[in-house]
Amino acid sequence: MKVSFPHMGTQVFYKKLMDMIGLDYIMPPAPTKKTIDLGVKYSPEFACFPYKVLLGTYIEALEAGADTILTSGGSGPCRAGLYAELHKKTLRSLGYNVDFIVFDDIGRDPKMFFDNVRKIKGNKSWFEAVKIFYTAYRIAKAVDNLQRVVQIRRAYEITPGSFDAAFKDVMQDFSDNANSLKDIKKLYKKNLKVLENVPITKIPPKNERVRIGIVGEIYVVMEPSVNMNIAEELNKLGCEVSTSMYISEWIDHAVIPKIFRKKSGKYLVDDSKKYLEMQIGGHECHNIGNMIEYKKQGYDGIVHLMPFGCLPELVTQTLAPKISSDNNLPILTLSLDEQTGIANNLTRIEAFVDLLRKNK
Ligand code: SF4
Repeated sequence: MKVSFPHMGTQVFYKKLMDMIGLDYIMPPAPTKKTIDLGVKYSPEFACFPYKVLLGTYIEALEAGADTILTSGGSGPCRAGLYAELHKKTLRSLGYNVDFIVFDDIGRDPKMFFDNVRKIKGNKSWFEAVKIFYTAYRIAKAVDNLQRVVQIRRAYEITPGSFDAAFKDVMQDFSDNANSLKDIKKLYKKNLKVLENVPITKIPPKNERVRIGIVGEIYVVMEPSVNMNIAEELNKLGCEVSTSMYISEWIDHAVIPKIFRKKSGKYLVDDSKKYLEMQIGGHECHNIGNMIEYKKQGYDGIVHLMPFGCLPELVTQTLAPKISSDNNLPILTLSLDEQTGIANNLTRIEAFVDLLRKNK
């Protein structure tokens, strides 16, 4: 079995998990125009954008020698729950002899979840498998926290590209040297210092800083190559950024059983209830809850990323004007698909940032 998986943000978690568990794998390449074109060519026209990009990614991984795709499921009207079946049918009809291992929320079907773990853990004992997964999860937490630091400090970088170069080294360091919880602690401290030493201009006083929260559909929020590298673009305009989704948070919600979680996302769902009486799939409750949470934390505005063809985020977009006026919170929704014109969206982003500065 040679596995591959979606390319979703920083890849350190997946790589370390595969290395430690001893699985043969193909690292998927970051999506490019070619990936998107491939996905679009073989997808139904009205499939949501992540479906198309993932199909293109899988084709590239299978061409590189993978034969099994590891992926996550989904529930409710969100189409992610059907992705794997449709992807499998399409890929097989194209002649690829592919299998899928789909990890769904552990609470939905514990038996299936553990059967899937059994398939990938190979000869490792359950104890070893849990230990490896927990180590990979702690690596994801550390890298995600360091990425948060980048998304704030990069707004003030002196030499363009210096934070990207530093963060690339951070990821390589974790990839090469993080093999135990002790290593992770040491590497986190060391790399935090590295990032804090990247030269920046003086950080302005709080009342002059522009802070923006990015919310939206999980794939387009986490994968910079399909979201126009939005966090970096906002940083270039001098704004501090926080994104609402990271791989470690997805693991918190979907994999770690509730009793072991330090913080559940329940407060986000509670916050969203004023606007949404029922959960409609995807992360729309969390997105609405996060918009309100960002406001409570004093953020100046929200960029909401919505893939074309996404039902849950279409609903969030419809509710955005009400959330915005109730909370005095500017919200910019950007719809992303294979036709997305970067120049057009960048003009909208610049205008939005001008508005936020003017508000200050
Ligand atoms: S959240 Fe939206 S874009 Fe993502 S899988 Fe569900 S329907 Fe598609």
